[in-house]
Amino acid sequence: MKSILALLADFANGIFAVLIACAVYDISPQWWYFLIGLPLAMLPDIDAIPELLKRGRVSSDASYTRDHRTFLHYPIISVVIFTPVFLYGGFWGLVVVLAVLLHLLNDLYGTGWGLQLLWPLSTRHYKFFGRRANRLRSMLADGGYLQELPIEETKLRFMVSWSKAELADYITRFGVDNWIIHWYLRPNWVSVVEYSLFLIATTLMIVSLV
Ligand SMILES: [Zn+2]
Repeated sequence: MKSILALLADFANGIFAVLIACAVYDISPQWWYFLIGLPLAMLPDIDAIPELLKRGRVSSDASYTRDHRTFLHYPIISVVIFTPVFLYGGFWGLVVVLAVLLHLLNDLYGTGWGLQLLWPLSTRHYKFFGRRANRLRSMLADGGYLQELPIEETKLRFMVSWSKAELADYITRFGVDNWIIHWYLRPNWVSVVEYSLFLIATTLMIVSLV
């Protein structure tokens, strides 16, 4: 049940996608637009379904060092697939494109191991506002990593990256199985940002419907 907390940012993305598209097309949102926008914002995570069915959860840690973010998470693939949707899809085409774009922006910070932004030209993973030792500072402090690791590994930086060869090793060392508890059931900048986005989006949705 607590897994739903990790989806609130995507719910916000779906709401924002509908509201922006309505503003662009100068139309009033209908309640059912949002019912379509919400799953559209989760569309890129379609690649997590096999892992979810097999393991009952989605996480990268020592027991599972693969990252599900492939296919639509590759920006070049999404541009190829969604450019015709944007050009010929009218209002709903714009909703789809905005929902996917906001999802990918969301995946570039916070939880997870970023995105392979340049795939297939490069398999390097890039993440914004992250640490190479990909944990919250409080988690690194609890584990004694702040004293143990060089500062380059623990410092919060505008952008960090990992090569494909490094990633499995970093996931083994720093991946967390119960990541939802650490990132979403405790106050930290990621949960504050994502919950705030959800509250703002929900408020704007209600205001747009009354
Ligand atoms: Zn994703």
